[in-house]
Amino acid sequence: MILNDPGPLPRERLIAQLATQPAWDLIVIGGGATGLGTALDAATRGYRTLLLEARDFAKGTSSRSTKLVHGGVRYLAQGRIGLVREALLERWRLSRSAPGLVRRQRFVVPVYRLWDKLKLGAGLTAYDLLAGRHGFGRARLLDAAQTLAALPTVRKEGLKGGIAYFDGQFDDSALAVALARSTIAAGGLVINYMAVTGLRHESGRVCGVIARDQEGGEEFVLEARAVVNATGVWADDLRKMDEPGCAPMLSPSQGVHLVVGPQWLPGGDALLVPETTDGRVLFMIPWQGKVLLGTTDTPRPDVPLEPGPLPGEVEFILRTAQTCLSRAPQRSDVLSVFAGLRPLIGAAPDEPTGQLSREHVIRVSASGLLTIGGGKWTTYRRMAEETTDRAANLAGLSPRPCVTAELKLLDQPLSDGNAGFLHPRLDLSAARVEQAIRFEFARNVEDVLARRHRALFLDAEAAVEVAPAVTELMAGLLGRDGAWVCAQTEGFRELASAYHVASSD
Ligand SMILES: Cc1cc2nc3c(=O)[nH]c(=O)nc-3n(C[C@H](O)[C@H](O)[C@H](O)COP(=O)(O)OP(=O)(O)OC[C@H]3O[C@@H](n4cnc5c(N)ncnc54)[C@H](O)[C@@H]3O)c2cc1C
Repeated sequence: MILNDPGPLPRERLIAQLATQPAWDLIVIGGGATGLGTALDAATRGYRTLLLEARDFAKGTSSRSTKLVHGGVRYLAQGRIGLVREALLERWRLSRSAPGLVRRQRFVVPVYRLWDKLKLGAGLTAYDLLAGRHGFGRARLLDAAQTLAALPTVRKEGLKGGIAYFDGQFDDSALAVALARSTIAAGGLVINYMAVTGLRHESGRVCGVIARDQEGGEEFVLEARAVVNATGVWADDLRKMDEPGCAPMLSPSQGVHLVVGPQWLPGGDALLVPETTDGRVLFMIPWQGKVLLGTTDTPRPDVPLEPGPLPGEVEFILRTAQTCLSRAPQRSDVLSVFAGLRPLIGAAPDEPTGQLSREHVIRVSASGLLTIGGGKWTTYRRMAEETTDRAANLAGLSPRPCVTAELKLLDQPLSDGNAGFLHPRLDLSAARVEQAIRFEFARNVEDVLARRHRALFLDAEAAVEVAPAVTELMAGLLGRDGAWVCAQTEGFRELASAYHVASSD
């Protein structure tokens, strides 16, 4: 199947299309990796598909990942061979489906004990072998001089060498937009700022949803043969709409990332610390001209929309970086801090979240509500295939084969334009803002500065400084008044304060 670019996507036109179907085959709730993947899978099979997202696409966990398309070196160490093999295959598929958004990244693991060099070398060779012909490049052992050349800032004392291996890197929120546009190109409908506020039942079976437009306030009563709950860490809220009093399915865990300048990791290679004091791995990865450091794994029973770092999380990352760098960043060097909540499938309250399953789970309630939870960005396509198979079966739709394994997504990153940038530290032009509105579903200043461009994640201070100019531009394009401009600028300043490290911890 070849997808044709759908061109501009004005929201009024999308909302008007809600009335075109008396009943949808599938309604998918939630516009993160899981929901968007499922909507694309269903639409490309020819099912009448609608996706509703309460806020912006990828506003939840899906814009706050480490941005790796990976098999998971850590899961290999835990012996989860099947999980790693499947993810490595999906890594390869995604690199072919969205070559404009996924790139190969070399990682170097510095080693300070010869035994570690042997052990890690063997592990990373096994990682390559599991990838088979779908590999991204062979792992190899480096001597101390080669390791220092790759990672000039690494701690030199006692350095015995390193291991270099390859994984994938992508831009999570850009992939979410690519999936949304691709779904529309395939004949489906996706709408952001449209919250599902209730489920409809008939004779004990779920048969649709009630949705409210978060901009205009209008309510829509929509029918569907299958309803898919893909709301990430909020999945239990939806499950309770279906079955009040049901036992929770998720045990969310928070992960924090810090963003610092490129001088902390010059050279282009990423650094992996294989074992931190909490038994995790720590990454330092070049990302969009900056360096991403992360992450933590802290159980978090509440599920705020804007999770901030918990006490100690920022210090933990900085302290761990100090153990492996000759000179490490301090709090004052952090340009932005962001946190995300992993939708892990639950366990006993006292089980450490690091041990919880990263695999996905599909549950079907007595009324037929299908909930898909867990998993990761890398395997979204596989999760979507399974979800659509189950939903089609449940709804008695005629079986149709999945076509996404070789589908080319509409992934071409839109040009930044040549009209000059709106801020000296950001490659954001007025033309790019206009593209975000016309082609990429952006509705407010946060959509543009957090997810269409990654300013808020890369340099929170610069994002706040450019916000008034972006808001003015948007007001002109969307026909908004001065009160909207003031409210947007003020709201964004408040939101961005949580991304300044000085104000956290
Ligand atoms: C710190 C961290 C690092 C990670 N790093 C990686 C990585 O490097 N690689 C990788 O492959 N994976 C990674 N992951 C995992 C990956 O990011 C997640 O598995 C994935 O993004 C989850 O997507 P989701 O669609 O299930 O959830 P979400 O992205 O949270 O989407 C759920 C959506 O549902 C919407 N919603 C909620 N309620 C309603 C409602 N009533 N009506 C309509 N919409 C609603 C929300 O607004 C939200 O947008 C990481 C996760 C974390 C937390």
